[in-house]
Amino acid sequence: MSEYDIKSMTYEEITDVCLSLGLPKFRAGQIFKWIQHFGVSSYDEMTDISKQLRSKLSEAYPINGCEIELKRVSKIDGTVKYLFRLHDGNYIESVLMKYKYGYTLCISSQVGCKMGCMFCASTKSGCVRNLTAGEMVGQIHAAQRDAGVRVSHVVIMGMGEPLDNFDNAMRFLSLVGNENGLNIGMRNISLSTCGIVPRMYELMEKNLQITLSVSLHAPENELRSRIMPVNRKYPLADLMKVCREYTEKTSRRISFEYAMISGLNDTKECAYKLADLVKGMLCHVNLIPANEIEESTYKRSSEKTLKDFCSILNSRGVNVTVRRSLGSDIDASCGQLRSRREKQNSDGRNAK
Ligand code: SAH
Repeated sequence: MSEYDIKSMTYEEITDVCLSLGLPKFRAGQIFKWIQHFGVSSYDEMTDISKQLRSKLSEAYPINGCEIELKRVSKIDGTVKYLFRLHDGNYIESVLMKYKYGYTLCISSQVGCKMGCMFCASTKSGCVRNLTAGEMVGQIHAAQRDAGVRVSHVVIMGMGEPLDNFDNAMRFLSLVGNENGLNIGMRNISLSTCGIVPRMYELMEKNLQITLSVSLHAPENELRSRIMPVNRKYPLADLMKVCREYTEKTSRRISFEYAMISGLNDTKECAYKLADLVKGMLCHVNLIPANEIEESTYKRSSEKTLKDFCSILNSRGVNVTVRRSLGSDIDASCGQLRSRREKQNSDGRNAK
Protein backbone atom coordinates (compact mmCIF):
# COMPACT_ATOMS: atom_id res chain seq x y z
CA MET A 1 0.00 0.00 0.00
CA SER A 2 1.12 3.53 -0.67
CA GLU A 3 3.17 5.28 1.99
CA TYR A 4 1.51 8.56 1.05
CA ASP A 5 -1.50 10.37 2.43
CA ILE A 6 -4.43 10.42 0.04
CA LYS A 7 -3.98 14.04 -1.02
CA SER A 8 -0.46 13.20 -2.16
CA MET A 9 -1.46 10.05 -4.03
CA THR A 10 -1.40 9.70 -7.79
CA TYR A 11 -4.39 8.31 -9.64
CA GLU A 12 -2.65 4.91 -9.83
CA GLU A 13 -2.08 4.86 -6.07
CA ILE A 14 -5.70 5.74 -5.38
CA THR A 15 -6.67 2.94 -7.74
CA ASP A 16 -4.66 0.54 -5.56
CA VAL A 17 -6.46 1.86 -2.48
CA CYS A 18 -9.83 1.26 -4.14
CA LEU A 19 -8.89 -2.23 -5.24
CA SER A 20 -7.67 -3.05 -1.73
CA LEU A 21 -11.06 -1.98 -0.39
CA GLY A 22 -12.82 -4.09 -2.98
CA LEU A 23 -14.14 -1.04 -4.83
CA PRO A 24 -14.49 -0.80 -8.60
CA LYS A 25 -11.76 1.09 -10.43
CA PHE A 26 -13.99 3.98 -11.51
CA ARG A 27 -14.19 5.08 -7.87
CA ALA A 28 -10.51 6.01 -8.08
CA GLY A 29 -11.25 8.46 -10.89
CA GLN A 30 -14.02 10.05 -8.85
CA ILE A 31 -11.97 10.31 -5.68
CA PHE A 32 -8.89 11.65 -7.49
CA LYS A 33 -10.97 14.34 -9.13
CA TRP A 34 -12.69 15.37 -5.90
CA ILE A 35 -9.38 15.65 -4.14
CA GLN A 36 -7.11 17.06 -6.84
CA HIS A 37 -9.49 19.06 -9.02
CA PHE A 38 -12.12 20.26 -6.55
CA GLY A 39 -9.79 20.27 -3.57
CA VAL A 40 -12.41 19.02 -1.12
CA SER A 41 -11.36 19.02 2.49
CA SER A 42 -13.79 16.31 3.53
CA TYR A 43 -15.21 13.13 2.06
CA ASP A 44 -18.67 14.48 2.87
CA GLU A 45 -18.36 16.74 -0.16
CA MET A 46 -18.05 13.72 -2.48
CA THR A 47 -21.72 13.63 -3.36
CA ASP A 48 -21.51 10.77 -5.84
CA ILE A 49 -20.11 8.42 -3.21
CA SER A 50 -22.28 6.66 -0.65
CA LYS A 51 -22.30 7.83 2.96
CA GLN A 52 -21.10 4.47 4.14
CA LEU A 53 -18.11 4.48 1.84
CA ARG A 54 -17.32 8.08 2.70
CA SER A 55 -17.05 7.29 6.37
CA LYS A 56 -14.96 4.20 5.68
CA LEU A 57 -12.55 6.27 3.59
CA SER A 58 -12.34 9.15 6.00
CA GLU A 59 -11.29 6.85 8.82
CA ALA A 60 -8.62 5.08 6.82
CA TYR A 61 -7.40 7.93 4.62
CA PRO A 62 -7.82 11.35 6.20
CA ILE A 63 -7.54 14.36 3.88
CA ASN A 64 -4.95 16.73 5.28
CA GLY A 65 -5.68 20.19 3.94
CA CYS A 66 -4.55 23.70 4.78
CA GLU A 67 -6.71 25.79 7.12
CA ILE A 68 -6.56 29.56 6.93
CA GLU A 69 -5.05 30.81 10.18
CA LEU A 70 -4.61 34.39 9.09
CA LYS A 71 -5.12 36.37 5.92
CA ARG A 72 -3.97 39.80 4.88
CA VAL A 73 -5.13 41.68 1.84
CA SER A 74 -3.03 44.47 0.37
CA LYS A 75 -4.89 47.77 0.03
CA ILE A 76 -2.46 48.77 -2.69
CA ASP A 77 -2.78 45.93 -5.17
CA GLY A 78 -5.11 43.27 -3.75
CA THR A 79 -2.32 40.77 -3.13
CA VAL A 80 -3.41 38.25 -0.51
CA LYS A 81 -1.06 36.70 1.97
CA TYR A 82 -2.18 33.52 3.70
CA LEU A 83 -0.85 31.95 6.83
CA PHE A 84 -2.04 28.34 6.66
CA ARG A 85 -2.21 25.88 9.56
CA LEU A 86 -1.36 22.31 8.70
CA HIS A 87 -2.96 19.26 10.32
CA ASP A 88 -0.05 18.94 12.79
CA GLY A 89 -0.22 22.59 13.87
CA ASN A 90 2.68 23.84 11.77
CA TYR A 91 2.33 27.06 9.80
CA ILE A 92 3.22 27.90 6.22
CA GLU A 93 2.66 30.89 3.98
CA SER A 94 1.38 31.45 0.46
CA VAL A 95 0.85 34.64 -1.52
CA LEU A 96 -1.84 35.17 -4.15
CA MET A 97 -1.01 37.78 -6.76
CA LYS A 98 -3.07 39.14 -9.61
CA TYR A 99 -1.39 39.75 -12.93
CA LYS A 100 -2.75 40.66 -16.33
CA TYR A 101 -2.62 37.04 -17.42
CA GLY A 102 -4.29 35.60 -14.33
CA TYR A 103 -3.65 34.64 -10.74
CA THR A 104 -0.30 33.40 -9.52
CA LEU A 105 0.13 31.61 -6.23
CA CYS A 106 3.50 31.56 -4.53
CA ILE A 107 3.63 28.37 -2.48
CA SER A 108 5.87 26.97 0.25
CA SER A 109 7.72 23.68 -0.04
CA GLN A 110 8.89 23.20 3.57
CA VAL A 111 8.02 24.35 7.08
CA GLY A 112 11.02 26.64 7.53
CA CYS A 113 14.23 26.07 5.61
CA LYS A 114 17.72 24.89 6.43
CA MET A 115 19.64 26.79 3.77
CA GLY A 116 20.52 29.69 6.06
CA CYS A 117 20.53 32.59 3.55
CA MET A 118 21.26 35.61 5.69
CA PHE A 119 18.63 37.94 4.29
CA CYS A 120 15.76 35.44 4.43
CA ALA A 121 13.09 35.26 7.14
CA SER A 122 12.05 31.67 6.38
CA THR A 123 15.30 30.08 7.47
CA LYS A 124 15.85 31.82 10.79
CA SER A 125 14.71 28.91 12.92
CA GLY A 126 15.76 26.11 10.60
CA CYS A 127 13.67 23.51 8.82
CA VAL A 128 10.91 21.80 10.79
CA ARG A 129 9.85 19.37 8.07
CA ASN A 130 9.23 18.84 4.41
CA LEU A 131 5.78 19.50 3.01
CA THR A 132 4.02 16.59 1.37
CA ALA A 133 2.95 16.95 -2.25
CA GLY A 134 -0.63 17.11 -0.96
CA GLU A 135 0.21 20.06 1.26
CA MET A 136 1.73 21.85 -1.71
CA VAL A 137 -1.38 21.35 -3.86
CA GLY A 138 -3.48 22.08 -0.78
CA GLN A 139 -2.21 25.65 -0.71
CA ILE A 140 -3.61 26.18 -4.20
CA HIS A 141 -6.94 24.59 -3.29
CA ALA A 142 -7.29 26.69 -0.15
CA ALA A 143 -6.40 29.94 -1.91
CA GLN A 144 -8.71 29.25 -4.87
CA ARG A 145 -11.55 28.39 -2.60
CA ASP A 146 -11.09 31.42 -0.39
CA ALA A 147 -10.58 33.95 -3.17
CA GLY A 148 -13.08 32.39 -5.58
CA VAL A 149 -10.60 32.51 -8.45
CA ARG A 150 -8.69 30.04 -10.57
CA VAL A 151 -4.95 29.97 -10.04
CA SER A 152 -3.31 29.68 -13.45
CA HIS A 153 0.33 30.08 -12.47
CA VAL A 154 2.35 28.72 -9.57
CA VAL A 155 5.75 29.75 -8.28
CA ILE A 156 7.50 27.53 -5.76
CA MET A 157 9.19 30.48 -4.15
CA GLY A 158 7.65 30.56 -0.73
CA MET A 159 9.15 29.11 2.41
CA GLY A 160 11.62 26.29 1.96
CA GLU A 161 14.01 24.93 -0.62
CA PRO A 162 12.08 22.77 -3.09
CA LEU A 163 15.14 20.85 -4.26
CA ASP A 164 15.83 19.91 -0.63
CA ASN A 165 12.41 18.23 -0.79
CA PHE A 166 12.98 16.87 -4.26
CA ASP A 167 10.70 13.83 -4.44
CA ASN A 168 7.70 15.62 -3.00
CA ALA A 169 8.28 18.61 -5.25
CA MET A 170 8.33 16.31 -8.32
CA ARG A 171 5.23 14.51 -7.09
CA PHE A 172 3.57 17.90 -6.65
CA LEU A 173 4.35 18.77 -10.27
CA SER A 174 2.79 15.58 -11.52
CA LEU A 175 -0.35 16.07 -9.41
CA VAL A 176 -0.85 19.70 -10.30
CA GLY A 177 -0.29 19.04 -14.00
CA ASN A 178 -2.72 16.14 -14.15
CA GLU A 179 -5.66 16.87 -16.44
CA ASN A 180 -8.10 15.50 -13.88
CA GLY A 181 -6.47 17.57 -11.17
CA LEU A 182 -5.74 21.29 -11.33
CA ASN A 183 -4.36 20.84 -14.84
CA ILE A 184 -1.80 23.62 -14.59
CA GLY A 185 0.68 23.40 -17.45
CA MET A 186 4.37 23.06 -16.64
CA ARG A 187 5.08 26.26 -18.55
CA ASN A 188 3.01 28.10 -15.96
CA ILE A 189 5.12 26.84 -13.09
CA SER A 190 8.38 28.24 -11.75
CA LEU A 191 10.60 26.48 -9.28
CA SER A 192 13.16 28.52 -7.40
CA THR A 193 16.34 27.10 -5.91
CA CYS A 194 19.28 28.53 -3.98
CA GLY A 195 21.51 26.25 -6.06
CA ILE A 196 21.69 22.64 -4.89
CA VAL A 197 23.77 21.54 -7.85
CA PRO A 198 23.30 17.73 -7.81
CA ARG A 199 19.53 18.10 -7.57
CA MET A 200 19.62 20.59 -10.44
CA TYR A 201 21.23 17.89 -12.61
CA GLU A 202 18.53 15.50 -11.51
CA LEU A 203 15.87 18.04 -12.42
CA MET A 204 17.55 18.61 -15.77
CA GLU A 205 17.27 14.90 -16.58
CA LYS A 206 13.51 15.16 -16.18
CA ASN A 207 13.48 17.69 -18.99
CA LEU A 208 10.40 19.49 -17.71
CA GLN A 209 8.99 22.62 -19.27
CA ILE A 210 8.89 24.50 -15.97
CA THR A 211 10.85 27.71 -15.47
CA LEU A 212 13.86 27.27 -13.26
CA SER A 213 14.71 30.27 -11.11
CA VAL A 214 18.09 30.40 -9.48
CA SER A 215 18.66 32.65 -6.48
CA LEU A 216 22.01 34.16 -7.32
CA HIS A 217 22.24 37.33 -5.23
CA ALA A 218 26.01 37.71 -5.68
CA PRO A 219 28.32 37.53 -8.70
CA GLU A 220 31.38 36.14 -6.94
CA ASN A 221 32.18 33.37 -4.47
CA GLU A 222 33.43 35.31 -1.49
CA LEU A 223 30.31 37.44 -1.20
CA ARG A 224 27.92 34.67 -2.16
CA SER A 225 29.36 32.31 0.45
CA ARG A 226 28.99 35.03 3.03
CA ILE A 227 25.30 35.59 2.41
CA MET A 228 24.31 32.14 1.14
CA PRO A 229 25.98 29.22 2.98
CA VAL A 230 24.93 26.81 0.20
CA ASN A 231 27.64 28.43 -1.94
CA ARG A 232 30.35 26.98 0.31
CA LYS A 233 29.23 23.54 -0.76
CA TYR A 234 28.30 24.32 -4.37
CA PRO A 235 30.40 27.28 -5.52
CA LEU A 236 29.51 29.60 -8.36
CA ALA A 237 31.54 27.83 -11.04
CA ASP A 238 29.64 24.59 -10.42
CA LEU A 239 26.35 26.43 -10.24
CA MET A 240 26.89 28.28 -13.50
CA LYS A 241 28.04 25.09 -15.19
CA VAL A 242 24.84 23.25 -14.32
CA CYS A 243 22.80 26.29 -15.32
CA ARG A 244 24.40 26.37 -18.77
CA GLU A 245 23.85 22.66 -19.25
CA TYR A 246 20.28 23.02 -18.03
CA THR A 247 19.42 25.64 -20.61
CA GLU A 248 21.08 23.60 -23.36
CA LYS A 249 19.30 20.41 -22.44
CA THR A 250 15.83 21.87 -21.83
CA SER A 251 15.99 24.90 -24.15
CA ARG A 252 14.34 26.75 -21.31
CA ARG A 253 15.56 30.14 -20.18
CA ILE A 254 16.81 30.31 -16.60
CA SER A 255 15.73 33.18 -14.45
CA PHE A 256 18.38 34.50 -12.05
CA GLU A 257 17.00 36.17 -8.95
CA TYR A 258 19.11 38.96 -7.52
CA ALA A 259 17.93 40.71 -4.34
CA MET A 260 19.48 44.15 -4.17
CA ILE A 261 20.92 44.85 -0.72
CA SER A 262 22.32 48.28 -0.04
CA GLY A 263 26.12 48.49 -0.02
CA LEU A 264 26.50 44.73 -0.22
CA ASN A 265 25.81 43.38 -3.69
CA ASP A 266 24.58 46.49 -5.49
CA THR A 267 27.82 48.21 -6.50
CA LYS A 268 28.75 48.97 -10.09
CA GLU A 269 31.54 46.45 -9.79
CA CYS A 270 28.99 43.78 -8.88
CA ALA A 271 26.92 44.74 -11.92
CA TYR A 272 29.91 44.30 -14.24
CA LYS A 273 30.81 40.98 -12.65
CA LEU A 274 27.23 39.80 -12.91
CA ALA A 275 27.12 40.74 -16.59
CA ASP A 276 30.28 38.71 -17.21
CA LEU A 277 28.96 35.77 -15.27
CA VAL A 278 25.79 35.35 -17.30
CA LYS A 279 27.24 36.43 -20.64
CA GLY A 280 25.92 34.45 -23.58
CA MET A 281 23.49 32.44 -21.52
CA LEU A 282 19.85 31.79 -22.30
CA CYS A 283 18.72 33.66 -19.22
CA HIS A 284 16.99 36.52 -17.62
CA VAL A 285 18.05 38.52 -14.55
CA ASN A 286 15.36 39.57 -12.13
CA LEU A 287 16.41 42.36 -9.79
CA ILE A 288 14.39 42.47 -6.58
CA PRO A 289 14.64 45.34 -4.13
CA ALA A 290 15.47 43.30 -1.00
CA ASN A 291 12.74 43.10 1.59
CA GLU A 292 13.90 44.36 4.92
CA ILE A 293 13.16 41.71 7.52
CA GLU A 294 12.94 42.11 11.27
CA GLU A 295 15.72 39.67 12.00
CA SER A 296 18.43 41.39 10.01
CA THR A 297 20.01 44.77 9.52
CA TYR A 298 20.19 44.74 5.73
CA LYS A 299 18.66 47.65 3.88
CA ARG A 300 17.29 47.56 0.38
CA SER A 301 19.11 49.44 -2.37
CA SER A 302 17.90 52.90 -3.34
CA GLU A 303 15.87 53.46 -6.51
CA LYS A 304 18.83 55.18 -8.10
CA THR A 305 21.26 52.35 -7.36
CA LEU A 306 18.75 49.88 -8.70
CA LYS A 307 18.36 51.88 -11.89
CA ASP A 308 22.10 52.28 -12.41
CA PHE A 309 22.67 48.57 -11.80
CA CYS A 310 19.96 47.76 -14.27
CA SER A 311 21.40 50.04 -16.96
CA ILE A 312 24.86 48.50 -16.65
CA LEU A 313 23.37 45.06 -17.22
CA ASN A 314 21.31 46.38 -20.10
CA SER A 315 24.32 48.01 -21.72
CA ARG A 316 26.09 44.66 -21.59
CA GLY A 317 23.24 42.97 -23.37
CA VAL A 318 21.82 41.18 -20.35
CA ASN A 319 18.11 40.54 -20.36
CA VAL A 320 17.05 42.23 -17.11
CA THR A 321 13.89 43.35 -15.32
CA VAL A 322 13.14 44.85 -11.96
CA ARG A 323 10.51 42.83 -10.16
CA ARG A 324 7.35 44.70 -9.38
CA SER A 325 6.93 44.56 -5.67
CA LEU A 326 3.43 43.40 -4.73
CA GLY A 327 1.84 43.46 -1.32
CA SER A 328 4.45 45.71 0.24
CA ASP A 329 1.98 46.75 2.95
CA ILE A 330 1.26 43.21 4.14
CA ASP A 331 4.71 41.68 4.61
CA ALA A 332 4.08 39.64 1.49
CA SER A 333 7.60 38.29 1.35
CA CYS A 334 7.70 34.87 2.82
CA GLY A 335 8.52 33.71 6.29
CA GLN A 336 7.61 36.87 8.14
CA LEU A 337 4.06 36.04 9.19
CA ARG A 338 5.00 32.55 10.30
CA SER A 339 7.92 33.65 12.42
CA ARG A 340 5.74 36.24 14.10
CA ARG A 341 2.97 33.71 14.79
CA GLU A 342 5.44 31.14 16.14
CA LYS A 343 6.85 33.82 18.41
CA GLN A 344 3.39 34.86 19.63
CA ASN A 345 2.56 31.24 20.37
CA SER A 346 5.74 30.63 22.30
CA ASP A 347 5.33 33.90 24.24
CA GLY A 348 1.82 32.72 25.07
CA ARG A 349 3.11 29.34 26.23
CA ASN A 350 5.85 30.94 28.30
CA ALA A 351 3.39 33.27 29.94
CA LYS A 352 1.25 30.39 31.16
N1 SAH B 1 14.73 28.27 -1.48
C1 SAH B 1 14.36 28.76 -2.77
C2 SAH B 1 12.96 29.31 -2.85
C3 SAH B 1 12.43 30.15 -1.74
S1 SAH B 1 13.05 31.77 -1.53
C4 SAH B 1 15.37 29.77 -3.25
O1 SAH B 1 16.29 30.08 -2.52
O2 SAH B 1 15.27 30.19 -4.38
C5 SAH B 1 12.32 32.70 -2.83
C6 SAH B 1 13.17 33.87 -3.28
O3 SAH B 1 13.08 34.96 -2.34
C7 SAH B 1 14.64 33.54 -3.41
O4 SAH B 1 15.16 34.14 -4.56
C8 SAH B 1 15.19 34.18 -2.16
O5 SAH B 1 16.57 34.36 -2.24
C9 SAH B 1 14.39 35.45 -2.08
N2 SAH B 1 14.42 36.14 -0.82
C10 SAH B 1 14.48 35.63 0.42
N3 SAH B 1 14.52 36.60 1.34
C11 SAH B 1 14.46 37.77 0.67
C12 SAH B 1 14.46 39.13 1.06
N4 SAH B 1 14.53 39.49 2.34
N5 SAH B 1 14.38 40.06 0.08
C13 SAH B 1 14.30 39.70 -1.22
N6 SAH B 1 14.29 38.43 -1.65
C14 SAH B 1 14.38 37.48 -0.71
